[in-house]
Amino acid sequence: MSDIKRVCDCTRCGLPSEFPGTQIDLTGQCRLCRETKQDSWPSLGEEALRDLIIERAGSARWACLVAFSGGKDSTYMLRRLAEWFPQRVLAFTFDTQVMSEETWNNIDRVVGKLGVEWVKHVPRAGYMNTLFQKVFPKLVELRQKTLYSRGVLEFGPICWPCGTLYNLQTIRAALEREIPTVLVGFNPAQDSTHYPHAHGQLKTPGDLHQARQTPREDGISAKDYVTMTSPIRRLIRAELGEVNAAEYCDFTIDTNFKKMRVLRFYDYVNYDETAIRKSAAEVGFVAPPDCGYGSTNCTLNPLVRHVYQALYGVDKYRAQDAALVRWGLGSRSKTSDWASQVPDRASVLPLVEKIQIGAAQFDAILSEKPAETSLK
Ligand SMILES: [Zn+2]
Repeated sequence: MSDIKRVCDCTRCGLPSEFPGTQIDLTGQCRLCRETKQDSWPSLGEEALRDLIIERAGSARWACLVAFSGGKDSTYMLRRLAEWFPQRVLAFTFDTQVMSEETWNNIDRVVGKLGVEWVKHVPRAGYMNTLFQKVFPKLVELRQKTLYSRGVLEFGPICWPCGTLYNLQTIRAALEREIPTVLVGFNPAQDSTHYPHAHGQLKTPGDLHQARQTPREDGISAKDYVTMTSPIRRLIRAELGEVNAAEYCDFTIDTNFKKMRVLRFYDYVNYDETAIRKSAAEVGFVAPPDCGYGSTNCTLNPLVRHVYQALYGVDKYRAQDAALVRWGLGSRSKTSDWASQVPDRASVLPLVEKIQIGAAQFDAILSEKPAETSLK
């Protein structure tokens, strides 16, 4: 736990004052709320998404490839797309090696019920653990640097490299099959990396939130996406070596690659968590028992929450949930009492062992004093 004292939460969105850059003023509102002009998420509309996919697909075998993690958001996304484009949607799962057993059951049930074709990519044995072992301490070490801090604040120290690989492998799966459009199911408060127009200009969490609230009508090109992941790909290359990195990080930039685009489903379709859970349940989704708050597929999630709390003094999901509240997509009532829910050291040690980081090393990593964050 952090020794930073709680002060207050923003009266509008609930963002805690410990969060870097919060700056709650006398009105009780945080800087992000003061700077956010809109109070709703400017969804681009389902029709726009369908038109875009149709226009790009032409008569190709697959209309789109869907990044299907087995979580509730991507289950709902897959269901809707399968309804729009029967037999022309390919579901793709990257096996992170830390997914819940129940997630694999969910995937089986959902794919069966929807009747969609599904492929998965399984990394070589030990690859993901090596990634976690090498990159996790590195990201912690680099957390005070602006770019890395942003990534860490977004995803948590472990989620970031894993999520990047997930996206890269999804893009590769689509390229191999010449599928022109990739759909990803991040909720509106996740993954600012899809906004290259703002990348490099984001100096504060406020900039980040503004950038996020600007959906791109035609998504981003796969080429831009891969370019944006250069820092993490460099990190993977440095830590895992050329051969290991090549398999996951190298891309041939050909014509197909230049044409391919990545679209965020929830930039177009309203993000209503209650409706999403209901719809996903109808096609066989069951919330896994071992992922904890904020994830419906990853068993490392409790560990990441613990690490985030230890490093930053706030729950990993507070910024994301506050953004959803600010944009009228979530409620503050759900978000009370986080701090007491963050998993403690004893409960996450089995997860530390699972990714083969020793308890002593884990403690040493977390006890490193951070330099002053540049996000303040
Ligand atoms: Zn606020």
